Order: sequence, then structure tokens, then C-alpha cells
Amino acid sequence: MICIAPSLFAADPLRLADEAESIRASGSDMLHFDILDGHFVPNLSFGVNTLAALKGYPLPIDVHLIMDNPEKYIEECAQAGADTITVHAEATPHLHRLLQTIRQAGAKAGVAINPATPISVLDYIMEDIDNVLIMGINPGCTMQSLIPSTLGKVRDVRARINAAKLPITIEVDGGMDPGSCLPYIQAGVDIIVLGRSFFNSADRRQLIADLHAMC
Ligand code: ZN
Repeated sequence: MICIAPSLFAADPLRLADEAESIRASGSDMLHFDILDGHFVPNLSFGVNTLAALKGYPLPIDVHLIMDNPEKYIEECAQAGADTITVHAEATPHLHRLLQTIRQAGAKAGVAINPATPISVLDYIMEDIDNVLIMGINPGCTMQSLIPSTLGKVRDVRARINAAKLPITIEVDGGMDPGSCLPYIQAGVDIIVLGRSFFNSADRRQLIADLHAMC
């Protein structure tokens, strides 16, 4: 079964509580929570206090740290209720240690890779990750379209995970809409992050049901 995770970053910023409730009511499987820092990427989003305000939320919360120095926020995010914490391979010189810190904090550890980052960054960390997040666009900039080469990257990561026989999930984030999901599901994606395509949908429940029916 594919997991659908709408990103709260694409929601109406003045109605976050209603939007989080709508994600739950739509039948989505997870809430994706992007924290952008204005350094690693040009944009800013919310801070850990907004994450903490979701405490008790009934779905798993998938925190994506799109920032430099993610080390500073691991413990805070775990305490604020993050189930998975994903950091960018490009954002830290000490990726292995950082992934261990995430697991020690009690969360699942994820590594995110930008469109131009080769999957060889996974070479020596496969035992230390629970999730690989493949960016479908360059992070932090809105209104981009899905970069087609990311589909081949999903296939390559799936082959590597299968060969290693490890229970690592693959997540694709950015530029996804219902029309683009099927080849990604066939390529072995486990988690699909939706942005505007979820929040602009006239019938969010139907959208999620249609995506679940694709697998
Ligand atoms: Zn994200």
C-alpha cells in the first residue's frame, strides 16, 4: 500500500489547524512537515513550535529538515512529536553521525537527496537509514515541475534497497500530482508527498482514494 503524505507547507498558512484536520479526514496516511531555513534554500517555513502544536495528531508526522546545520534541531523535533526525521545529504559533513543521532532521539532516520545528488551518497549509510527521500524538484522553490530524471533515480534506489534486503522506504517529494504518480509507484516508491495538488483539489478524500486505488 502506498502512503500519501500531504505537506502542510502547501496549506493555507492562516488555517493550519483546519488543514491538518483535513489531511486526516481525507484518508491520507501521514502528514509531511517541511522546515525550511532561508539558507540551504531561499524560502522559509515554520519552526519547531508549530510542529509541537501538532502534538497528539493521529497520523505519523514526517519531518523534512530542508536546512543547513540540521544537527541543531534533531532532539527538539523528536520531542515535538516527529516520527521520521529526514535530513539532506548535502547539508551536513557528518551524515553518518547525524543519522545515528536521529535514531537515538527515537525517530526513524531519513536521508534526502536533491535532483543533482548521485545515489552513491547512500553507499556507506544503508544500515543507518529507514527512509530515502528523493526530491522531484529543487527544494524550496515553489511552482516548479517534476524533473523527469527523478524516475530513473527511484528505480536505481529501489534496486539498491532490494539488493541490500533492508526495510528502507522510498519517498518522493516535490512536483507530484495524481497524473504523475503511477510510474513512480511502479518504480517502487512507498511514500508520495503531495503539495498544491492536494490542497487545490475540490475533493481531497476522492483524490486520496484514487491514489490508494492505483496500487
Ligand atoms: Zn518535504
